[in-house]
Amino acid sequence: MAKIPHRLYLTEEQIPSQWYNLRADMKELPDPLINPATGKPVVAEDLYPVFCEELARQELDNTTRYVDIPGEIMDMYQIYRPSPLCRAYSLEKALGTPAKIYYKFEGNNTSGSHKLNSAIAQAYYAKEQGLTSVTTETGAGQWGTALAEACSYFHLPLTVFMVKVSYQQKPFRKAVMETFGAEVIASPSDTTRVGRKILEDNPSTGGSLGCAISEAVEKAVSTPGSRYVLGSVLNQVLLHQSIIGQEARKAMDILGEYPDVVIGCAGGGSNLGGLIGPYMQDKLLGKASPRIVAVEPASCPSLTRGRYAYDYCDTGRITPMARMYTLGCGFIPSSNHAGGLRYHGMSPILSKLYHDGYMEAVSVEQTKVFEAAVLFAKNETILPAPESAHAIRAAVDEALRCKETGEAKTILFGLTGTGYFDMKAYENYMHQSMSDYVPTDEELQKGFDSLPSIPGIQ
Ligand SMILES: *Cc1c(COP(=O)(O)O)cnc(C)c1O
Repeated sequence: MAKIPHRLYLTEEQIPSQWYNLRADMKELPDPLINPATGKPVVAEDLYPVFCEELARQELDNTTRYVDIPGEIMDMYQIYRPSPLCRAYSLEKALGTPAKIYYKFEGNNTSGSHKLNSAIAQAYYAKEQGLTSVTTETGAGQWGTALAEACSYFHLPLTVFMVKVSYQQKPFRKAVMETFGAEVIASPSDTTRVGRKILEDNPSTGGSLGCAISEAVEKAVSTPGSRYVLGSVLNQVLLHQSIIGQEARKAMDILGEYPDVVIGCAGGGSNLGGLIGPYMQDKLLGKASPRIVAVEPASCPSLTRGRYAYDYCDTGRITPMARMYTLGCGFIPSSNHAGGLRYHGMSPILSKLYHDGYMEAVSVEQTKVFEAAVLFAKNETILPAPESAHAIRAAVDEALRCKETGEAKTILFGLTGTGYFDMKAYENYMHQSMSDYVPTDEELQKGFDSLPSIPGIQ
């Protein structure tokens, strides 16, 4: 048999032309979003003031299995896709493992991450609706960058609320967003009511994704012709990210490979939800049962230590409530370097799949993550994003277990992006000034105390 190539690129024609909606195959659906004003399930009209209409419909569409990707989105996908499916020969050798390790690399665009896959779709639908601007938040900066790229492509003005610690740690991220024409504001800021309130309560806060979301939503609803867009967590984002899994599946099929285990890092769950699509579908339909593993930071352990409960998606409690694994909307994580994984909740779709036993979750500590990141970089020549390195850690651990048992498992993981803007964190790791912060039960309890109570529901 011919040797499997280091990197397999599908042809442009082979790029999937439809997104896959996991909900259509779920035996039980995630619980509906709740409108905090009425205590009733959200209907599309409730979302229109905040989200653009087509995206609101996608958010609530539990039945359309495959959604055609509009031509203008395909045109932009073809600028930077397909992304390669890579075989980690060198890493396998370094580990001395009989396992076969594959990874799907999404870092080949300026945002350095998979986020562009959804940013393009969201900017496109906003433009289609005739909106005149959009707002968003960004944590580590990848989402803001991706959206700035997409908005500049579709000529749509954008304001980004950037979590203050990242704004300070990653000035060049801001510069990239500005290069693409976006306005960038450090969050919490004094430009919104909710930002001023958060600053008043906690003047020295470095911010969090939850705070930044509140500010971006407030700005969108108070600006005519503006809407808010979100880069993770939501059902629509998992839908757009399904391009990752569909491509990965096609490429694996061409190679005659099927993973025993699929691994991805999980912040809000969008890359993982996208990557696992076709394999989770097999599992839901009883055709195969690959293990599916979410990897999260020990400092922000929503799946492994959170509650499965209704919660707000933001700190300011202005979004609808979703039933998900959450640390509580009042949870503000430590300034862990994996900025993109510092979110209190988790995709309601993944939360439900995890709750129903279709998925596993592990949490990993930061220094172990960077150890794996450096090993990976030296062997595979890609400098991974710290977020992505959580998945690398779990893949390496799986491969090391195979070494002990002699099993030649096939491992597929999502390499979501590159880490060029995270060199401060790499430096801290190399100078041994990185710590592994793990919240105590008491600290987590404070977050749980912030969970909303909803008459008749929880
Ligand atoms: C945002 C981000 C993540 C985490 O987000 P998900 O929605 O959980 O996928 C992971 N890796 C990178 C590189 C990111 O930018």
